[in-house]
Amino acid sequence: MKREAPIELTPEEFRALGHRLVDDIAAFLGSLPGRKVTSGDQPSRIRSLLGTSSLPASGERPALLLAETQRLLFGHSLFNSHPKFFGYITAPAAPIGILGDLLASAANPNTGSFVLSPAATEIEAQTIRWIAELIGYPAECGGILVSGGNMANFICFLAARRAKTPWDIRTKGIGGDPRALRFYCSAEAHTWVQKAADLFGLGTDAIRWVPTDAGLRLDPAHLAAMIEEDRKNGHLPFMAVGTAGTVGTGAIDPLADIARICRDHDLWFHVDGAYGAPAAALPEAPPALRALGEADSIAVDPHKWLYAPLEVGCALVRRKDDLKSAFSYQPGYFRFQGDPGDEPTNFFELGMQNSRGFRALKVWLALRHVGREGYIRMIGDDIALARHLFACVKNEPELEAGTLGLSIATFRYVPAALPAEGAEAYLNTLNSTLCDELQRGGDAFVSNALLGGRFFLRACIVNFRTTEEDCEALPRIIVELGRKVDRRLRPH
Ligand SMILES: *Cc1c(COP(=O)(O)O)cnc(C)c1O
Repeated sequence: MKREAPIELTPEEFRALGHRLVDDIAAFLGSLPGRKVTSGDQPSRIRSLLGTSSLPASGERPALLLAETQRLLFGHSLFNSHPKFFGYITAPAAPIGILGDLLASAANPNTGSFVLSPAATEIEAQTIRWIAELIGYPAECGGILVSGGNMANFICFLAARRAKTPWDIRTKGIGGDPRALRFYCSAEAHTWVQKAADLFGLGTDAIRWVPTDAGLRLDPAHLAAMIEEDRKNGHLPFMAVGTAGTVGTGAIDPLADIARICRDHDLWFHVDGAYGAPAAALPEAPPALRALGEADSIAVDPHKWLYAPLEVGCALVRRKDDLKSAFSYQPGYFRFQGDPGDEPTNFFELGMQNSRGFRALKVWLALRHVGREGYIRMIGDDIALARHLFACVKNEPELEAGTLGLSIATFRYVPAALPAEGAEAYLNTLNSTLCDELQRGGDAFVSNALLGGRFFLRACIVNFRTTEEDCEALPRIIVELGRKVDRRLRPH
């Protein structure tokens, strides 16, 4: 008997729906520059569009369903693929990656093990080697793709914890030794450090915050002293984190100094390169960034500066075995050994996931589509545009320039006349109101940074669609809105 599954589409139905969808997506991508960056909808508006009906009892026609869903998504989203999206370190989706995700779902390999995903596993392994090569890390390193920067940092954190604890932490846990684990980073490090310390049982007191210099870079002069002090107090320092491109201002910690201190004190040296690591590919890369080649592990985020569609992060470890020794269990129901001399990679043993999707394809396709040269050009252009934006800001009397690091520029609106008293507090209110209104209005999208308690606007360019004109328009948009907000907050 022929089975009729309600979820099945015939090849003819699939083709018609797919052609239509691809046509609509192409039109959407072409229409982006003319759209608002965001619809700025409140949650209640979206909820009312979705309605309150309960789970549909029976099915709907897929053509209508896809058309309606497009209206919802294209009409009520924030588009990080928009040329005037300067908000967070979030990239537009590389078009080849959009197609790659479709193809990956069609093949649908389970990349947990080699037998379940022969081509996909090797494509992932090659993608990892290519990412390492691009940023100047040894290509014979180990690695795994995960969902993003946080997860990549967690993988490296757990590899470090396993490698640097002299007892069997995987059976005894962190209580297997009376010494408390300690690790080091600056206060500019991303919040993954708190999550890791908390989730993996160390507690956030395990984080030792190293002071920063005037450029918001970790000050290595303090690092060695803090490690020695902790040892004297009976703690167990195990890792130091250098950030290659801080999320706030794009600062690069002095990676070579941190590497040396880690060597001298037998600590694991981890680099959070979620944002900045790909910039190490540039011939003119800052020397501090080059030193990421000395790290024991690195987190890279292909959904940032490699412009892959969400989600994909990448953890790299210098010694391949460090992932297996931190994560591998071999349950009896998995029989995934290969032939001697031709051992398969089974990614379930190298990280936290069991079943895994084919995240590598969109990254691998993009790396092949544009090559090293293409990335060097796009990343270089993003950095040059951030500089251009910063120069435009400096030419604008009502804007105060803040910081410029990698492709992040910070600045704030300062009206011609300020209140005689409480000027700083007023500027904070003014700029945070301005930021909220800009974010909802959709003419452009920026986020914010706090610089010594002062509220600055923050423009990040990790966007191959942003042009010089977009950068020149941004200060004008902000000044115009700033004047309006100032008049409303302080009627003259
Ligand atoms: C973005 C970022 C992260 C987190 O990455 P996700 O992909 O958002 O999980 C961590 N560290 C730095 C420096 C980042 O820029």
